[in-house]
Amino acid sequence: MFDWKQDPHRRFNPLTREWVLVSPHRTERPWQGQVEAGAAAAQPDYDAECYLCPGNPRAGGVLNPSYTSTFIFDNDFAALKPDTPHDRFDRDGLLIAESEPGICRVVCFSPKHNLTIANMDAKDLRKVVDAWVGQYVELGARPTINYVQIFENRGPMMGASNPHPHCQIWSNHAVPNEVAREQAAQAAWRRERGTCLCCDYAKLELAAGDRVVDQNECFLSVVPFWGVWPFETMVISKRHLTAIDGLSESERDGLADILKRVTARYDRLFHVPFPYSMGFHQRPTDGAPHEEWHFHTHFYPPLLRSATVRKFLVGYEMLAGPQRDITPEAAAKRLRAL
Ligand SMILES: [Zn+2]
Ligand SMILES: [Zn+2]
Ligand SMILES: [Zn+2]
Repeated sequence: MFDWKQDPHRRFNPLTREWVLVSPHRTERPWQGQVEAGAAAAQPDYDAECYLCPGNPRAGGVLNPSYTSTFIFDNDFAALKPDTPHDRFDRDGLLIAESEPGICRVVCFSPKHNLTIANMDAKDLRKVVDAWVGQYVELGARPTINYVQIFENRGPMMGASNPHPHCQIWSNHAVPNEVAREQAAQAAWRRERGTCLCCDYAKLELAAGDRVVDQNECFLSVVPFWGVWPFETMVISKRHLTAIDGLSESERDGLADILKRVTARYDRLFHVPFPYSMGFHQRPTDGAPHEEWHFHTHFYPPLLRSATVRKFLVGYEMLAGPQRDITPEAAAKRLRAL
């Protein structure tokens, strides 16, 4: 009989409607528990060379203020510009381009060069959550901005150009690909079943338990059934809310708490500052209510077996589709035990 925890199989991602190939039998070899000490040198709390530290000059020449809390500024080398005029180019339906206005910002979590989410105290992390809410509301209120993407690239492995803990906000006119796909799936779910996809999924995972990593009163962290990256997780709000601006006071604290818990578990996994890309998915700011949207966070960490052995999406993944060996259930069990 087929055993979906042992035999090769594929799993369906209802948010993107894509399949991932799972090959659990390939991880039957015993776990080596490899630890590479000193993979990352400890950072000082101020670095005179850092362009994000208080009082230092940025790459564009502007001086940072001597900030003492969360600090937000327009990206000096923004991928998008607010005043891009509207235009469209189409040659025979083959060469199509559209102008894309937008605003890119950087949020330094704190003045401390070495203070990561996992190590911030609740009070300071709450200020970061408040900054995210403020930015989502402010940028989203602009008529040219229909989506606000908040994300963090952590660690050189993820292309983070600076170790000073910070995130980026790219807000623009078009709803981006990943968001559009998840929106279509959530809207179809709501149309066909009359419920919310993520509310239903959170309930199922809480009842099942074997993919749950952590939780608090307001949020749940799971390794999604369909995850692609070995230790991929999702943070889902237990209450249905379409975006970060709907968080109550206690839910803002709850979000800070769950992000700290998840990142601290990650750091303990291979005893290194764990690299990842994380970000929020939520309601576009195009003015529609978007009841189908359920606010959630994705963590996409690249590490596979140790501080240096990472997963690559190459070969089969580039040409055919994503594949993983360690099952989401096994990954959740490891993260839960830390
Ligand atoms: Zn710094
Ligand atoms: Zn929901
Ligand atoms: Zn999503």
